[in-house]
Amino acid sequence: MARAAASAEIERLIQLLARLPGLGPRSARRAALHLVKKKEQLLAPLAAALTEAHDRIVTCETCGNIDTVSPCTLCRDQSRDRTLICVVEEVGDLWALERAHVLNGLYHVLGGTLSPLDGVGPEDLSIAKLIERAGAPEVKEVLLALNATVEGQSTAHYLTDQLVGCNVAISRLAHGVPIGGELDYLDEGTLVAAVKARKTM
Ligand code: ZN
Repeated sequence: MARAAASAEIERLIQLLARLPGLGPRSARRAALHLVKKKEQLLAPLAAALTEAHDRIVTCETCGNIDTVSPCTLCRDQSRDRTLICVVEEVGDLWALERAHVLNGLYHVLGGTLSPLDGVGPEDLSIAKLIERAGAPEVKEVLLALNATVEGQSTAHYLTDQLVGCNVAISRLAHGVPIGGELDYLDEGTLVAAVKARKTM
C-alpha cells in the first residue's frame, strides 16, 4: 500500500509538471524523477521558492509586470526615462527587453493580443490603462514592441488608432524581427537592433 501511495504522489507531480509550457509528459516524467532523486538539493528549495512566489508575487497595478511590490520595481525606479512607454504582449517580452539592456523607459504589458476568433476584444486587454498612461504630460513616445505575428501587428494598428488623441509619437520595432517572430525567442543582438532602428507608425 505504501508503494501505491508514493507512486500516486509522484504521478501527481508529473501531471502538474506536464502542464508547464515546453514540457510534454515525457520530459515531465524525467523532470519529476530528477527532482525526487535530488530531494534535498533541488526539490526542497524548489518547493520553498514556489511557496514564496505564490505568497508574494503580485501584478503591478500600473504596468502589468509581476513583482513582489505594486507599483513594481521598474515603475518605481526614478532613474528610468518616463517619457517612453514600451508596450509588450506578455511579461516574458518585458523580461526579454530588460535582458537585452536596450531600453531605459517604462513598460506596459497588454496581457495578449486582439483575437476576435478567440473572443479576445479590447476590453480583455490592458488598453484603457495604456491610453490613460499615454495621456500623461511627461510621456513623449509609445513604442509598440509587439510580436511580428498577424495578431501582434493587427493589435499594433488598433493601438495606433486609439493613441491618436494622445500627444505622443508612436513607434514600432524595426523589421529585424522575423515575420511570425516572438520577442522572447529572439537573441539579444536582434532585439537591440530592432529597438534602435524603430520606426514611426
Ligand atoms: Zn510596473
